[in-house]
Amino acid sequence: MTKNQFVVGHCTQAWVCVLLACIFSIQASAETSFDLVIANGRVIDPASSTDAMLHVGIIDNRIVAVSEIPLSGTETIDAKGKVVTAGFIDLHSHAQTQLGQQFQVRDGVTTALDLEAGAYPVAAVANNISDQALINFGASASYASMRAKVLSNTEQPYIFFAGKSFSFKDAAFTKQMDEAEIARTMRHVGLGIDQGGIGIGLLLDYLDDAVSDGELEALFTTTADRRAPLFIHIRRGIAGDPSGLIEVIELAKRTGASIHICHLSASAMGGIDNFLELVDEALVAGVDISAESYPYNAGSTSIGADVFNRDWKSIFGITYSDVQLAETGEFFTKARWDEVRAEDPGATIIHHYGREDWTQRAMVSSAMMIGSDAMPIFSKKIKSHPRAIGTFSRVLAEYVRGSKILSLSEALAKMSYLPAKRLEGVAPKFKRKGRIQPGADADIVIFDVDSIRDRATYDQPYSPSTGITAVIVNGQLVVSQGIIVPNVFPGRIVIGG
Ligand SMILES: [Zn+2]
Repeated sequence: MTKNQFVVGHCTQAWVCVLLACIFSIQASAETSFDLVIANGRVIDPASSTDAMLHVGIIDNRIVAVSEIPLSGTETIDAKGKVVTAGFIDLHSHAQTQLGQQFQVRDGVTTALDLEAGAYPVAAVANNISDQALINFGASASYASMRAKVLSNTEQPYIFFAGKSFSFKDAAFTKQMDEAEIARTMRHVGLGIDQGGIGIGLLLDYLDDAVSDGELEALFTTTADRRAPLFIHIRRGIAGDPSGLIEVIELAKRTGASIHICHLSASAMGGIDNFLELVDEALVAGVDISAESYPYNAGSTSIGADVFNRDWKSIFGITYSDVQLAETGEFFTKARWDEVRAEDPGATIIHHYGREDWTQRAMVSSAMMIGSDAMPIFSKKIKSHPRAIGTFSRVLAEYVRGSKILSLSEALAKMSYLPAKRLEGVAPKFKRKGRIQPGADADIVIFDVDSIRDRATYDQPYSPSTGITAVIVNGQLVVSQGIIVPNVFPGRIVIGG
């Protein structure tokens, strides 16, 4: 601890804490001029159990002081009556476009990662953001893209941007590999990690028929050796069937691989209690497993996804009229479904198959983090699932302020500290994220706990969240008084290793 680096909230003896805070605060405020000060806010840092009225001093891109005594800076934001906490880290965002970032930042997200689908080469995740990143971003190394390279020598660096050149009928998603091909793919797995992939993204359900047991065993063994987690969309069975979850837990036990279950509640459906028990049991058995869920009861994917080649009506417990074409919002008939599937297999659909009580049971699980599963956003003319726009505000509005099934600190931990902690093994840069502490990256969200709310709906998805007054990324103010600050692009790619 230096004179400018102090934390309130770690001390077990309250008087020592106050004394130290006073001494260091006086020195800091007297001797240091900060670039930016956030004054008078209710600072919540679940990592240190801090929840108190404090002042935050930022120099360049770092938090340098968290103080009980007022600080002075070149610029000051008065956060009186507002919560000041670490910016949200979205583990699961396919909205890797400038427009996607414009909505996610107004939902409090300061780092959005595509860890489920991933990219390969990993840097390709930046292709539609270029040098205009409002928020930090990154990706796992995409296993599907590696299969495309080995099986058809095609480059599909980021499947969400491949457009018409991409199909789930491509060899990458349909063809089984021989041993030589598996060996070549495992070399790509190593390369993807060397490139800075934050683990490996495994769309296992989309590869359902293509991946043999031998290939899966090789992948789990390779990632275990490299200590790189697998971010998995597990295979789906008939509504609530846990066999897809059991499969990856057993593989993790056998190989020592780390696993993360994407959108667990969407995969679990009515089997949610069983799924959560299986995760808890795996944790007790020493498996390195984590999970994330989003706070909506409908899912979203492409109409060409592998699951729709199977008995999808039984798998989801729905029929055509429960599914919307995202672009227009229309609900399907069988004839329209067949037509769109034949003509535009990449079209995004929204399928209404979840139930609120399933979603809520996932939210309160201590093993659960919040991840949006934001779908790509290219144009406001094409509708999308509202989860890209309102996930984080919705958790705070519905489950903290509304039903009160989560405390504010619990919810914030699921949005920033726990994701950072999950990733810091594979990407040490996350040791400085997800925290409001001296030395942490200045990725910060300031919001009004009484009014924060999602406004995005299935009909009108492009309504940004309200109640978030300011967002700071790498020390730069990117949202001020709820509005995006023009011509400021402090977001950076975050890589593993
Ligand atoms: Zn998925």
